[in-house]
Amino acid sequence: MKTSVIGYPRIGSQRELKFACEKYFRGEISADELQKTAKNLRSENLQVQLESGLDFIPSNDFSFYDGILDTAFMLNVIPERYRKLDLQELDTYFAMARGYQGEKGDVKAFSMKKWFNTNYHYMVPEIDDNTEIRLNSDKPFILFTEAFEKGIKTKPVITGAYTFLKLAKYTGEKTAEDFIPSIIDVYCEILKKFSELGAEWIQFDEPCLVMDMSENDKKIFTELYEKILDEKCGIKILLQTYFGDVRDCYGELCRLDFDGIGLDFIEGKQSLEIIRKNGFPKDKVLFAGVINGKNIWRNNYRNTILTVSELKKHCGEIVLNTSCSLLHVPYTLKNEKKLAESYKKHFAYAEEKLSELAELKKILDSELPIETSEYQKNAILFMEHRSGSNPEVQQKVNSLSEKDFTRLPDFEEREKIQKEYFNLPLLPTTTIGSFPQTAEVRNIRAKFRKGEITEEQYDKYIKEKIAECVELQEKIGLDVLVHGEFERNDMVEYFGEYLDGYIFTEKAWVQSYGTRCVKPPVIWGDISRAKPMTVKWSVYAQSLTDKPMKGMLTGPVTILNWSFPREDISLKESAYQIALAIREEVLDLESNGIHIIQVDEAALREKLPLRKSDWQSDYLDWAIPAFRLVHSGVKPETQIHTHMCYSEFADIIKNIDDMDADVITFEASRSDLSILDVLKENNFRTEVGAGVYDIHSPRVPSKEEIKTALHKMLDRIPKDKIWVNPDCGLKTRGNAETIPSLENMVNAVKEIRNESI
Ligand code: GLN
Ligand code: ZN
Repeated sequence: MKTSVIGYPRIGSQRELKFACEKYFRGEISADELQKTAKNLRSENLQVQLESGLDFIPSNDFSFYDGILDTAFMLNVIPERYRKLDLQELDTYFAMARGYQGEKGDVKAFSMKKWFNTNYHYMVPEIDDNTEIRLNSDKPFILFTEAFEKGIKTKPVITGAYTFLKLAKYTGEKTAEDFIPSIIDVYCEILKKFSELGAEWIQFDEPCLVMDMSENDKKIFTELYEKILDEKCGIKILLQTYFGDVRDCYGELCRLDFDGIGLDFIEGKQSLEIIRKNGFPKDKVLFAGVINGKNIWRNNYRNTILTVSELKKHCGEIVLNTSCSLLHVPYTLKNEKKLAESYKKHFAYAEEKLSELAELKKILDSELPIETSEYQKNAILFMEHRSGSNPEVQQKVNSLSEKDFTRLPDFEEREKIQKEYFNLPLLPTTTIGSFPQTAEVRNIRAKFRKGEITEEQYDKYIKEKIAECVELQEKIGLDVLVHGEFERNDMVEYFGEYLDGYIFTEKAWVQSYGTRCVKPPVIWGDISRAKPMTVKWSVYAQSLTDKPMKGMLTGPVTILNWSFPREDISLKESAYQIALAIREEVLDLESNGIHIIQVDEAALREKLPLRKSDWQSDYLDWAIPAFRLVHSGVKPETQIHTHMCYSEFADIIKNIDDMDADVITFEASRSDLSILDVLKENNFRTEVGAGVYDIHSPRVPSKEEIKTALHKMLDRIPKDKIWVNPDCGLKTRGNAETIPSLENMVNAVKEIRNESI
């Protein structure tokens, strides 16, 4: 039996790539130095995979920013606005990723979207009527050759043509269909080149096949691959899917001339059933995704062996595979120096997953699998009783009833009460919570963590920062203030640290977008609030100003979605446990004089099942109530805000209204405020702050640009329901761009207030 992985993390086990890119952006290192770092990282990755005994080692899974952006670049999908800048190739690429503002022009970045149901984000390729798809990059071949020269024949990974065309945004008249002939040509050319280079297998990633597919989708898919597979040039083609099952197109996959089919047996709930029912073509290799590429728990060998034995009844050759790219898990447990062995032995990061593949291969190849020491060791681990249960919390969750999820009085009445209570000007201005986190802030936090400064010193420092931040906001003229979140490393980890049931890692970094990484905490046991989490800071901040100070919390669904979740209880149960803990904090803030409380649900949409038919029953039916549970106990005049980033929520607009928040702020500027029409059509009742500028880019929006955005809003939303804010928190930005941006925002609003609206 052979083993394979779909892709490996690339940011570096110590986030080397992130730091190198950021240095490059700041002009501190040259393009050559950046390339060198990248090459070293690739070489380390290859070495680790080689030493583990992995049979199919991927290449071209490396990217400086994002794999879909790389594919766009490779396919020459580079809109004119970037070409016009006339930059070096790498800088054109980064302009597409991050926008560009400098002597050569001022352009926005590609928009960014969540990658299926993960917390990774990809750049959305923009195809216009002038786009000419042709092969524009040597990267896949260079990376293949680079490994080949080390004696490793890799399996190049290329985004599949169908997925690329599906994910792209079409800004002109043309649609995906118009690009079928040209994209086929490119893929055939790729195969030809790889054949000349001596590749044996190539992996086409087609995660879009696990989404609902229409007849037309199937037609496009078939048309693409009938032609591409005609020009295989002797290369074996693995059609790789992940994040779900392929119930809509299994017939096509079997019928087309693929040499291997990669299916996900972790998230693909129906994968096994589909094979049982329909069989599996004997002339194809099944790449069976049995190692979870998204979670950090050890694989339960017993279950895996049962799955594989079942598969063996129906399939010819089977290759053991990960369920998706290991991009979504951290590098290696070797760097976890502080975590107790009693926890660690339950974990597997990317490198440990390689060992699991090797062990499973050994077990499955042996005469008596369950007698192998690897199997037995694993069986003992899964028999162990795990600490961390809290009967009181379980009891609370079990006794929840309808009234715990209902806030009174209803929205309309509260809106009136609050208008009077806060008496804010028209188009109130605010921010999403965090202010720029300088190196100094991070440094102080790190020192406190290491015990190098006392709690007193730390508090004093944070309070100074808060005071500065409040003063700045007053000077700029914002209406609803925030304390700045200087005490937070991350909007989820911070809360996790105050919650019993969580455990933390030192180095479990996972790429979120570009150079941004997150370090999700791990839900180990039942969750409860150990002590107040934010009250001290919010109360201090409020004491400095007469303007309302927003308390700032992260919501239960986001905390859950951005943690590594348990696999022994349901997500719903975990969400309700977390909601109860956050509810205590909400009530605590309220009783301490905080009258506006924002509960961020940045990741609410993220875990929607990929197939629409599963949305309500598998997710929204507990995710929305979990949010309501958080705030149903507050007074009518207490204003509850929520915030979502990069959320396309047109299709769950009713559910968003059902969260029953008083105000929602969200990202909108990158998607040209198109969400506004949807709000209008649906008579959206929650007040809205559609982000008026993009904070993921360093460019400063002009006052005029913001006024245009505001006019668009005023055309579609009743004026007394509009809030004005940037589209997300400012912590990744510097003061240099933040201050003028906010000033432009506030000035834009002032001018609009003076117009007769
Ligand atoms: N309140 C958080 C902040 O401003 C929200 C971040 C987010 O939505 N990702 O940083
Ligand atoms: Zn956000």
